[in-house]
Amino acid sequence: GDSFEIKTKMVVNDGGPWVDKILAGLNGKTMPQRFTLSSALNLVVNRDIMGKYAAGISGPYHHVFDDGSEYNAFRMLFFSPWRGKTIIGTNHLPYAGDQDEYKVTEAEISDFLKAVNTAHPGANIKREEVTYFYGGFLPMTGTNPKTGEVQLERHYKMLDHSKDDNIDGIITTVGVKYTTARDVAKKTIDLVFEKMGKKSPKCETETTRLYGGEIDKFDDFLNRNVQSKSNGLNEAAMKHLSYNYGSELGDILFYGDKDKKWLEKIPGSDEVIKAEVLHGVEEEMALKLSDVILRRTDLGSAGNPGEETLKEVADIMGKQLGWNDSRRQQEVDEVKEIYIPAK
Ligand SMILES: Cc1cc2nc3c(=O)[nH]c(=O)nc-3n(C[C@H](O)[C@H](O)[C@H](O)COP(=O)(O)OP(=O)(O)OC[C@H]3O[C@@H](n4cnc5c(N)ncnc54)[C@H](O)[C@@H]3O)c2cc1C
Repeated sequence: GDSFEIKTKMVVNDGGPWVDKILAGLNGKTMPQRFTLSSALNLVVNRDIMGKYAAGISGPYHHVFDDGSEYNAFRMLFFSPWRGKTIIGTNHLPYAGDQDEYKVTEAEISDFLKAVNTAHPGANIKREEVTYFYGGFLPMTGTNPKTGEVQLERHYKMLDHSKDDNIDGIITTVGVKYTTARDVAKKTIDLVFEKMGKKSPKCETETTRLYGGEIDKFDDFLNRNVQSKSNGLNEAAMKHLSYNYGSELGDILFYGDKDKKWLEKIPGSDEVIKAEVLHGVEEEMALKLSDVILRRTDLGSAGNPGEETLKEVADIMGKQLGWNDSRRQQEVDEVKEIYIPAK
């Protein structure tokens, strides 16, 4: 949480939903708000509803205007099988609050669940089966005045503040999809070079594989890993490592060469091994239990993994990061809170 000064010729403001906050007060100027936010919510249901199929299903849409009038129509919902469970989305709402105060609410989950069960009555999903929820922001252009529906921003935006605000040395980029991130990154870097009066080098993003993506035929790669029993890991664990770390799974197995205990499963998980936690801390800069539970491993991405798992991971991390008992407990308590929506 410390702040310090860094001098640079060019800053790229890439703070997603926070870009306006970052710009506010820049060089003592009052900046206009450039982006309007909407919230987006997907639910994780602890049951395989769709088998191997994903489906788009028409569900009810209901909006009440400020004057009390109502609008009823249909909207498309997706149901997708995910890690033996089902992920369902997306509920879009306008968001006018502070970015840092956003929390998914119980009321939104319950309203959305009603719409989901109306769309697919056979699924008959109970609230307690919703084990996690993914809520966040998407930029919108506004709401449809006739229907109240959120109208999402469809294309990335790039702002050159020397043109727009007479402030040199900073540009802002806001993307709208992961899937187009490489294209947006390329255009951002091109603009940085242009502004610095230099020629941009040839971009290699189209041919650069993602981390772990040095695989030509995935099925062959998977079969090879599953059949190699050399490290004593079972099929489920090898499959899981192959999917999550791809061609770099050796980075994880390497810990087992140092000490076999790192290949043991985390209690409460059928797949995740202790080495993944250590790798998260040593190689992926995880500093909080929530980093490892929610983002560096799959342990908590579909719901609270339970006390035993949280404590074990907090112990492994605690030994690496010098946490005492009370800090470990605090980390566990903070993670449990994440799974509880606001009232
Ligand atoms: C529920 C949901 C489902 C989605 N599903 C899909 C999908 O299926 N496919 C798809 O392509 N896209 C999807 N998206 C959209 C996708 O998540 C975004 O387009 C993407 O994350 C935008 O990336 P970004 O890097 O621009 O912003 P972000 O991912 O928001 O990253 C911005 C980062 O800046 C950091 N930051 C903010 N302020 C500061 C500061 N002052 N200092 C340092 N760091 C700061 C933030 O912490 C954050 O990590 C979904 C979004 C939501 C909310």
